[in-house]
Order: sequence, then structure tokens, then C-alpha cells
Amino acid sequence: MKVAFLDLKAAYLEIKDELDAAYQRVIESGRYILDRELQAFEEEFAAYCDANYCIGVGNGLDALHLILRGYGIGAGDEVIVPSHTFIATWLAVSYAGATPVPVEPDERTYNINSDLIEPAVTPRTKAIIAVHLYGQPADMDRISTVTKKYGIKVIEDAAQAHGAAYKNRKVGSLADAAAFSFYPAKNLGAYGDGGAVTTNDGGLADKIRRLRNYGSSAKYLHDSQGLNSRLDELQAAQLRVKLRHLDAWNRRREQLAGYYLQALAGTREELLLPYVLAWAKPVWHLFVVQHPSRTLIQKQLDQAGIFTSIHYPIPPHLQQSYGCLGYREGDFPIAERLAKRALSLPIGPHLSVEGAEYITSKLISALS
Ligand SMILES: *Cc1c(COP(=O)(O)O)cnc(C)c1O
Repeated sequence: MKVAFLDLKAAYLEIKDELDAAYQRVIESGRYILDRELQAFEEEFAAYCDANYCIGVGNGLDALHLILRGYGIGAGDEVIVPSHTFIATWLAVSYAGATPVPVEPDERTYNINSDLIEPAVTPRTKAIIAVHLYGQPADMDRISTVTKKYGIKVIEDAAQAHGAAYKNRKVGSLADAAAFSFYPAKNLGAYGDGGAVTTNDGGLADKIRRLRNYGSSAKYLHDSQGLNSRLDELQAAQLRVKLRHLDAWNRRREQLAGYYLQALAGTREELLLPYVLAWAKPVWHLFVVQHPSRTLIQKQLDQAGIFTSIHYPIPPHLQQSYGCLGYREGDFPIAERLAKRALSLPIGPHLSVEGAEYITSKLISALS
């Protein structure tokens, strides 16, 4: 038996007719950029997130970067980021010209530890990017008690959390603004790159709408030095179709996660399972376990035909690209420990129950 980490082709085949029709509709329309499909998707996705505005952009990194630019955050400013995240969270800050200031995660939920935020605040701190990592929402109320005190903007990195909820409120409307990615492997994935910003801040939405299109308010009128970062009509049309299936597909992920949690509950305590807080409704973008012998276990699963992954093997502060910040091994021990111990098991709407059973049986024998 072979088990893929994520089967994107099966996702396509399940709704092939709808996707093909949407694709054809766009090609035949002769309209490919900033047109009716994007406008419709923006309305539908804003409604889905309970947000007033949605602006489709080129990718998730740009979505984060454009929020920072829209708020005028740049050189000389600091932005608090998790030490444990995908590097794009940090890159967006650097790209805006500001400095990422890392804060360690809670080791059980993997999300930023809200107790450690206040000590990281300085007079230069302008924003915090809270990542809903692996699909579980960050503790937004506790974050906002700190940010309100200091007048700091809160930005959600919701690239892994389409449809997740915090205290019954959807991610994407929990803070000043939120960034989404529609990279193909995300819970809501396009057939290429894509991203979006959601916000209730009308002024910010207007700025980002211009910034994504050469800083242009009307054709050939440029009021800021913007970029070209637009969600194209083909991607928007595919995403409109997939948005209608998102809740059902997230439910399948939830069922698989429930199965994993139950089937692995009795295993030795060295295997640490993901921890879900009572107020969180995660969407299980990833199912990440921890084990001191991660590499050995991964190898044994690989030999059984099970493809796992590691999110992420090197934390941003130890990447060559961030050598400029001068961090060393030992500076963020929790992120470093997670990088050594984390293992992502296959999960996705097209993983079968038999596949999941095969994975848990092989994992349990690898542990013994
Ligand atoms: C995928 C991802 C991004 C970046 O999205 P792209 O569309 O690949 O640019 C940002 N943050 C997190 C947490 C992600 O997982």
C-alpha cells in the first residue's frame, strides 16, 4: 500500500465537471485579469469569513506584505512574529522593510505563546502577525489584551486555516486584517498561486486594492508605488467552485484527525499528539505529532510506503537568509526543539479511512 501525503489529483477528479466548466467559462469570456470572477470570489470569500472586504492578490506572502504596506509599516519598525512558522510570515515583514521580532510558541498548540508577547514589545513595535498554525486558531483575545494596551495592529496569518473558528468566530475577521494563501496544497487551494486579504477596515481595503495593481486608483493614475499582485480570473473561478466544497472537505479532515487522536491515544508518552483548546475549531491543515526519534520513525513509515513531511525542519531564525539578524542556535529553543521532533502525518479530504488505519498501525509498530 502507498499513501500520499496529500492527493490533489483526487480532489480535482471529485469535482472535475464543475471545475472544468468554470475554467471553460473564463477562457471563453476573453477576460482574464481583474474582472467579474474575481469580484464574485471576493464577495463570496468575504461573506464566508464574516468580513466586510476581501481583496484577491497574487499569493499569501503578498497578502501579508500588502497589509503591512497598507498600514505604512516599514523601515525602522518592528513586527512580532512566531519563532515557529513558515518563513513567509517573516519574509513579509522583511519585504516591507521592517524587522521581524520572534516570540516562542506554546509547545502543545504550536501557536504563539501569548504570555511572551508583552516582553517582546518595544517603542518600535507596530504590529503582530498571529499565525493560525496547522489550522488551529491562535488565542486572539489574549493577544489583543496586549496589543490594545500598546496600540499595536494585529494581523492574522490564516494561510493554513480557511474555515477555522475561534470562540465561534471565523478566522479572517478576528483582527485588523487577515492574509490567506491559495497555494494548491492549502485547505482552499487554487491551480497555481493565489492569495487574499480580508478585513473590516475600509480604508485599508482601498489601499490594498490600489497597491496590488501598480498603486493605481484609475487607469494610468498612480498614487503610490504599488506592485503587480492580482488573483487572476482563472484562479478566482476555480476557487469559487472549491469554496462551495470547503466546509465538507474540512469536515473530512476533522474526522481523520479525530480518528488519529483516538487511535494513537494509548501509545507511549514520547509520542506527543496535537492539543486542541476548548474554544478552538481547527481545520487540520496538518496533523503534526512530536517524537524524540522523529527521523527514525519517518524512515520506517517511508519504508511502509507512507509519505510524511516535516513542518518545518529549520526555524526561520537559523536560516541562512536570516543570518543578518545574528541569531544563534539556542536563542529560540522551543522552535528548535519542534524542528527536531515534529512529524506531519498525511491528512486531507481524499485520504481514505483504510489509509489512515494503515498509517496508525504502521506508526504504532514503529513506536514499539
Ligand atoms: C503558505 C503560507 C504562507 C505563504 O503563502 P504563499 O501563497 O505560498 O505565498 C504564509 N504563511 C503561512 C503560515 C503559510 O503556510
